[in-house]
Amino acid sequence: MEILDGKQVAENIKKDFEERLNKVKIRPNIAVLGIKGDGASDIYTRKIKKNCEKYRIGFKLILSENVKDFKKNFKEIKDDESITGIMFQQPLDGNVLNLINEIPAQKDIEGIGINNMGKLFLGNEDAQIPCTSKAVIKTIEYYGINLEGKKVAIVGRSSIVGKPLIPQLLKKDATITVCHSKTKNLVKELQTADVVIMAIGKANFLKKEMIKKDAILIDVGINFLDGKIVGDIDYEDVKDYVKAITPVPGGIGIVTNALLIDNIIRSVE
Ligand code: NAP
Repeated sequence: MEILDGKQVAENIKKDFEERLNKVKIRPNIAVLGIKGDGASDIYTRKIKKNCEKYRIGFKLILSENVKDFKKNFKEIKDDESITGIMFQQPLDGNVLNLINEIPAQKDIEGIGINNMGKLFLGNEDAQIPCTSKAVIKTIEYYGINLEGKKVAIVGRSSIVGKPLIPQLLKKDATITVCHSKTKNLVKELQTADVVIMAIGKANFLKKEMIKKDAILIDVGINFLDGKIVGDIDYEDVKDYVKAITPVPGGIGIVTNALLIDNIIRSVE
Protein backbone atom coordinates (compact mmCIF):
# COMPACT_ATOMS: atom_id res chain seq x y z
CA MET A 1 0.00 0.00 0.00
CA GLU A 2 1.30 3.44 -0.95
CA ILE A 3 0.71 6.39 1.38
CA LEU A 4 -0.11 9.50 -0.63
CA ASP A 5 1.68 11.94 1.67
CA GLY A 6 0.17 15.43 1.48
CA LYS A 7 3.28 17.08 2.91
CA GLN A 8 5.30 16.27 -0.21
CA VAL A 9 2.54 17.59 -2.49
CA ALA A 10 2.26 20.79 -0.44
CA GLU A 11 6.06 21.36 -0.46
CA ASN A 12 6.03 21.01 -4.23
CA ILE A 13 3.25 23.62 -4.53
CA LYS A 14 4.97 26.03 -2.11
CA LYS A 15 8.42 25.91 -3.68
CA ASP A 16 7.91 28.86 -6.05
CA PHE A 17 5.74 31.04 -3.75
CA GLU A 18 8.58 33.41 -2.79
CA GLU A 19 9.67 33.84 -6.40
CA ARG A 20 6.10 34.55 -7.54
CA LEU A 21 5.55 37.02 -4.70
CA ASN A 22 8.73 38.85 -5.64
CA LYS A 23 7.44 39.29 -9.19
CA VAL A 24 3.96 40.67 -8.48
CA LYS A 25 3.39 44.43 -8.50
CA ILE A 26 0.90 44.43 -5.63
CA ARG A 27 1.50 42.53 -2.40
CA PRO A 28 -1.57 40.37 -1.66
CA ASN A 29 -3.75 41.66 1.16
CA ILE A 30 -6.74 39.58 2.17
CA ALA A 31 -9.80 40.06 4.36
CA VAL A 32 -11.69 37.24 6.09
CA LEU A 33 -15.25 38.11 7.09
CA GLY A 34 -17.33 36.17 9.57
CA ILE A 35 -19.89 36.38 12.33
CA LYS A 36 -18.69 35.95 15.92
CA GLY A 37 -19.18 32.64 17.64
CA ASP A 38 -17.92 29.57 15.73
CA GLY A 39 -14.99 27.98 17.56
CA ALA A 40 -14.17 25.38 14.90
CA SER A 41 -13.84 27.94 12.11
CA ASP A 42 -11.70 30.15 14.39
CA ILE A 43 -9.07 27.38 14.34
CA TYR A 44 -9.11 27.33 10.52
CA THR A 45 -8.87 31.12 10.34
CA ARG A 46 -5.89 31.18 12.73
CA LYS A 47 -4.14 28.69 10.45
CA ILE A 48 -4.78 30.91 7.41
CA LYS A 49 -3.46 33.95 9.30
CA LYS A 50 -0.29 32.07 10.24
CA ASN A 51 0.28 30.98 6.63
CA CYS A 52 -0.30 34.52 5.35
CA GLU A 53 2.20 35.92 7.87
CA LYS A 54 4.78 33.39 6.75
CA TYR A 55 4.63 34.84 3.21
CA ARG A 56 4.13 38.46 4.37
CA ILE A 57 0.64 38.52 2.89
CA GLY A 58 -1.64 41.13 4.48
CA PHE A 59 -4.37 39.56 6.60
CA LYS A 60 -7.40 41.21 8.20
CA LEU A 61 -10.10 39.37 10.16
CA ILE A 62 -13.43 41.16 10.49
CA LEU A 63 -15.90 39.43 12.79
CA SER A 64 -19.35 41.01 12.89
CA GLU A 65 -21.86 40.89 15.74
CA ASN A 66 -24.82 40.04 13.49
CA VAL A 67 -26.02 39.77 9.87
CA LYS A 68 -26.74 43.49 9.50
CA ASP A 69 -23.24 44.32 10.71
CA PHE A 70 -21.78 41.68 8.37
CA LYS A 71 -23.50 43.19 5.34
CA LYS A 72 -22.19 46.66 6.21
CA ASN A 73 -18.64 45.39 6.71
CA PHE A 74 -18.82 43.38 3.50
CA LYS A 75 -19.78 46.46 1.50
CA GLU A 76 -16.85 48.41 2.91
CA ILE A 77 -14.35 45.64 2.21
CA LYS A 78 -15.71 45.04 -1.29
CA ASP A 79 -15.14 48.69 -2.14
CA ASP A 80 -11.70 48.83 -0.50
CA GLU A 81 -9.12 48.85 -3.29
CA SER A 82 -6.28 47.85 -0.97
CA ILE A 83 -7.94 44.44 -0.39
CA THR A 84 -6.89 41.95 -3.09
CA GLY A 85 -8.76 38.90 -1.80
CA ILE A 86 -11.91 38.23 0.22
CA MET A 87 -13.12 35.07 1.91
CA PHE A 88 -15.96 34.23 4.27
CA GLN A 89 -15.44 32.33 7.50
CA GLN A 90 -18.07 29.59 7.39
CA PRO A 91 -20.57 28.35 8.50
CA LEU A 92 -22.83 31.25 7.52
CA ASP A 93 -26.54 31.08 6.87
CA GLY A 94 -27.72 30.89 3.24
CA ASN A 95 -28.90 34.49 3.10
CA VAL A 96 -25.43 35.79 4.01
CA LEU A 97 -23.60 33.13 2.04
CA ASN A 98 -25.20 34.37 -1.18
CA LEU A 99 -23.08 37.53 -0.84
CA ILE A 100 -20.15 35.38 -1.97
CA ASN A 101 -21.47 35.92 -5.50
CA GLU A 102 -20.95 39.66 -5.07
CA ILE A 103 -17.21 39.26 -4.41
CA PRO A 104 -15.47 40.40 -7.63
CA ALA A 105 -14.32 37.19 -9.39
CA GLN A 106 -10.64 38.13 -9.14
CA LYS A 107 -10.90 38.68 -5.37
CA ASP A 108 -12.83 35.42 -4.79
CA ILE A 109 -9.74 33.59 -3.50
CA GLU A 110 -11.70 30.47 -2.58
CA GLY A 111 -13.21 30.22 -6.07
CA ILE A 112 -16.67 29.47 -4.73
CA GLY A 113 -18.62 32.33 -6.30
CA ILE A 114 -20.87 31.80 -9.30
CA ASN A 115 -18.42 33.47 -11.69
CA ASN A 116 -15.41 31.28 -10.92
CA MET A 117 -17.56 28.17 -10.66
CA GLY A 118 -19.02 28.91 -14.11
CA LYS A 119 -15.53 29.38 -15.54
CA LEU A 120 -14.38 26.11 -13.96
CA PHE A 121 -17.28 24.14 -15.44
CA LEU A 122 -16.70 25.68 -18.88
CA GLY A 123 -12.97 24.92 -18.77
CA ASN A 124 -11.75 28.52 -18.59
CA GLU A 125 -8.09 28.45 -17.53
CA ASP A 126 -8.22 31.58 -15.35
CA ALA A 127 -10.89 30.21 -12.98
CA GLN A 128 -10.02 30.32 -9.29
CA ILE A 129 -10.70 26.74 -8.16
CA PRO A 130 -11.99 25.77 -4.68
CA CYS A 131 -8.82 24.74 -2.81
CA THR A 132 -9.97 21.42 -1.35
CA SER A 133 -11.15 20.07 -4.70
CA LYS A 134 -7.93 21.23 -6.31
CA ALA A 135 -5.95 19.55 -3.51
CA VAL A 136 -7.47 16.22 -4.56
CA ILE A 137 -6.40 16.81 -8.16
CA LYS A 138 -2.89 18.02 -7.25
CA THR A 139 -2.38 14.92 -5.09
CA ILE A 140 -3.51 12.64 -7.93
CA GLU A 141 -1.17 14.45 -10.33
CA TYR A 142 1.82 14.47 -7.97
CA TYR A 143 1.64 10.70 -7.51
CA GLY A 144 1.22 10.12 -11.26
CA ILE A 145 -2.20 8.47 -11.01
CA ASN A 146 -3.68 8.18 -14.50
CA LEU A 147 -7.47 8.54 -14.46
CA GLU A 148 -8.13 8.03 -18.16
CA GLY A 149 -11.03 5.58 -18.50
CA LYS A 150 -11.00 4.93 -14.74
CA LYS A 151 -14.17 4.87 -12.68
CA VAL A 152 -14.06 7.50 -9.92
CA ALA A 153 -16.70 7.67 -7.19
CA ILE A 154 -17.04 10.96 -5.30
CA VAL A 155 -18.98 10.68 -2.05
CA GLY A 156 -20.31 14.12 -1.07
CA ARG A 157 -21.72 16.84 -3.34
CA SER A 158 -20.83 20.09 -1.57
CA SER A 159 -19.89 23.25 -3.46
CA ILE A 160 -16.33 23.16 -2.09
CA VAL A 161 -15.49 19.50 -2.82
CA GLY A 162 -17.86 17.22 -4.74
CA LYS A 163 -19.26 19.65 -7.29
CA PRO A 164 -16.01 21.39 -8.34
CA LEU A 165 -14.35 17.98 -8.65
CA ILE A 166 -16.71 17.04 -11.49
CA PRO A 167 -15.17 19.22 -14.26
CA GLN A 168 -11.63 18.59 -12.98
CA LEU A 169 -12.04 14.82 -13.09
CA LEU A 170 -13.80 14.94 -16.47
CA LYS A 171 -10.82 16.85 -17.80
CA LYS A 172 -8.71 13.85 -16.77
CA ASP A 173 -11.03 11.56 -18.77
CA ALA A 174 -12.40 9.75 -15.73
CA THR A 175 -15.93 8.32 -15.62
CA ILE A 176 -17.56 9.83 -12.56
CA THR A 177 -20.28 8.82 -10.15
CA VAL A 178 -21.33 11.40 -7.55
CA CYS A 179 -22.89 9.88 -4.43
CA HIS A 180 -24.66 11.62 -1.56
CA SER A 181 -26.97 10.96 1.36
CA LYS A 182 -29.86 9.95 -0.93
CA THR A 183 -27.82 7.49 -3.02
CA LYS A 184 -29.79 4.23 -2.95
CA ASN A 185 -27.04 1.62 -2.90
CA LEU A 186 -23.78 3.33 -2.01
CA VAL A 187 -21.79 0.11 -1.59
CA LYS A 188 -22.78 -1.07 -5.08
CA GLU A 189 -21.47 2.21 -6.54
CA LEU A 190 -18.23 2.06 -4.55
CA GLN A 191 -17.41 -1.58 -5.21
CA THR A 192 -16.87 -0.93 -8.92
CA ALA A 193 -14.83 2.26 -8.44
CA ASP A 194 -11.08 2.36 -9.14
CA VAL A 195 -10.77 5.57 -7.13
CA VAL A 196 -13.00 6.64 -4.23
CA ILE A 197 -12.99 10.24 -2.96
CA MET A 198 -14.65 10.57 0.44
CA ALA A 199 -15.97 13.99 1.56
CA ILE A 200 -18.93 13.49 3.87
CA GLY A 201 -17.71 14.42 7.35
CA LYS A 202 -18.45 11.05 9.03
CA ALA A 203 -15.61 9.60 11.11
CA ASN A 204 -14.22 6.24 9.88
CA PHE A 205 -17.30 5.68 7.67
CA LEU A 206 -15.67 3.76 4.79
CA LYS A 207 -14.68 0.13 5.52
CA LYS A 208 -12.91 -2.38 3.30
CA GLU A 209 -16.02 -4.44 2.55
CA MET A 210 -17.51 -1.36 0.84
CA ILE A 211 -14.80 -1.04 -1.83
CA LYS A 212 -12.99 -3.16 -4.40
CA LYS A 213 -9.55 -4.58 -3.69
CA ASP A 214 -6.64 -2.36 -4.76
CA ALA A 215 -8.77 0.75 -5.05
CA ILE A 216 -7.12 4.16 -4.59
CA LEU A 217 -8.68 6.12 -1.72
CA ILE A 218 -8.65 9.89 -1.21
CA ASP A 219 -9.87 11.01 2.21
CA VAL A 220 -11.05 14.62 2.39
CA GLY A 221 -12.89 14.21 5.70
CA ILE A 222 -11.73 15.94 8.87
CA ASN A 223 -13.52 14.65 11.97
CA PHE A 224 -12.79 14.85 15.68
CA LEU A 225 -13.11 11.51 17.45
CA ASP A 226 -11.97 10.78 21.01
CA GLY A 227 -9.65 13.78 20.97
CA LYS A 228 -8.06 12.79 17.65
CA ILE A 229 -8.47 13.96 14.06
CA VAL A 230 -9.68 11.16 11.77
CA GLY A 231 -10.94 11.03 8.19
CA ASP A 232 -14.06 9.58 6.58
CA ILE A 233 -12.14 6.36 5.89
CA ASP A 234 -11.33 3.76 8.52
CA TYR A 235 -7.61 3.82 7.76
CA GLU A 236 -6.65 0.82 9.93
CA ASP A 237 -9.42 -1.30 8.42
CA VAL A 238 -8.59 -0.60 4.74
CA LYS A 239 -4.82 -0.07 4.78
CA ASP A 240 -3.78 -3.59 3.72
CA TYR A 241 -6.56 -3.91 1.17
CA VAL A 242 -6.02 -0.81 -0.98
CA LYS A 243 -3.42 0.26 -3.54
CA ALA A 244 -2.96 3.77 -2.15
CA ILE A 245 -4.51 6.12 0.39
CA THR A 246 -4.20 9.69 1.67
CA PRO A 247 -3.75 9.79 5.48
CA VAL A 248 -5.67 12.04 7.90
CA PRO A 249 -4.03 14.14 9.19
CA GLY A 250 -1.19 14.61 6.72
CA GLY A 251 -3.13 14.30 3.47
CA ILE A 252 -5.55 16.57 1.63
CA GLY A 253 -5.74 19.16 4.46
CA ILE A 254 -2.10 20.25 4.16
CA VAL A 255 -2.39 20.50 0.38
CA THR A 256 -5.56 22.59 0.72
CA ASN A 257 -3.75 25.09 2.98
CA ALA A 258 -0.95 25.48 0.43
CA LEU A 259 -3.46 25.95 -2.39
CA LEU A 260 -5.24 28.78 -0.59
CA ILE A 261 -1.94 30.70 -0.59
CA ASP A 262 -1.55 29.71 -4.26
CA ASN A 263 -5.00 31.18 -5.04
CA ILE A 264 -4.14 34.34 -3.04
CA ILE A 265 -0.99 34.84 -5.13
CA ARG A 266 -2.86 34.02 -8.36
CA SER A 267 -5.37 36.76 -7.59
CA VAL A 268 -2.67 39.44 -7.92
CA GLU A 269 -0.71 37.81 -10.75
P1 NAP B 1 -20.94 19.14 3.62
O1 NAP B 1 -21.18 20.43 2.93
O2 NAP B 1 -21.58 18.87 4.93
O3 NAP B 1 -21.38 17.98 2.63
C1 NAP B 1 -21.37 16.64 3.00
C2 NAP B 1 -21.80 15.80 1.83
O4 NAP B 1 -21.77 14.43 2.25
C3 NAP B 1 -23.23 16.07 1.35
O5 NAP B 1 -23.25 16.07 -0.05
C4 NAP B 1 -24.03 14.89 1.92
O6 NAP B 1 -25.12 14.50 1.11
C5 NAP B 1 -22.99 13.78 1.90
N1 NAP B 1 -23.25 12.75 2.89
C6 NAP B 1 -23.43 12.90 4.22
N2 NAP B 1 -23.64 11.71 4.80
C7 NAP B 1 -23.59 10.78 3.81
C8 NAP B 1 -23.71 9.37 3.78
N3 NAP B 1 -23.95 8.66 4.87
N4 NAP B 1 -23.60 8.75 2.59
C9 NAP B 1 -23.35 9.45 1.46
N5 NAP B 1 -23.21 10.80 1.43
C10 NAP B 1 -23.33 11.45 2.59
O7 NAP B 1 -19.42 18.83 3.84
P2 NAP B 1 -18.09 19.49 3.18
O8 NAP B 1 -17.99 20.90 3.60
O9 NAP B 1 -17.98 19.12 1.75
O10 NAP B 1 -16.98 18.66 4.01
C11 NAP B 1 -16.90 17.26 3.95
C12 NAP B 1 -15.78 16.80 4.85
O11 NAP B 1 -14.56 17.32 4.36
C13 NAP B 1 -15.87 17.29 6.30
O12 NAP B 1 -15.31 16.30 7.15
C14 NAP B 1 -14.99 18.50 6.32
O13 NAP B 1 -14.46 18.78 7.60
C15 NAP B 1 -13.92 18.07 5.38
N6 NAP B 1 -13.18 19.15 4.74
C16 NAP B 1 -11.85 18.98 4.65
C17 NAP B 1 -11.08 19.95 4.05
C18 NAP B 1 -9.61 19.71 3.92
O14 NAP B 1 -8.88 20.64 3.69
N7 NAP B 1 -9.15 18.47 4.01
C19 NAP B 1 -11.66 21.12 3.56
C20 NAP B 1 -13.03 21.24 3.64
C21 NAP B 1 -13.80 20.25 4.22
P3 NAP B 1 -26.40 15.47 0.85
O15 NAP B 1 -25.92 16.47 -0.14
O16 NAP B 1 -27.43 14.57 0.30
O17 NAP B 1 -26.75 16.08 2.17
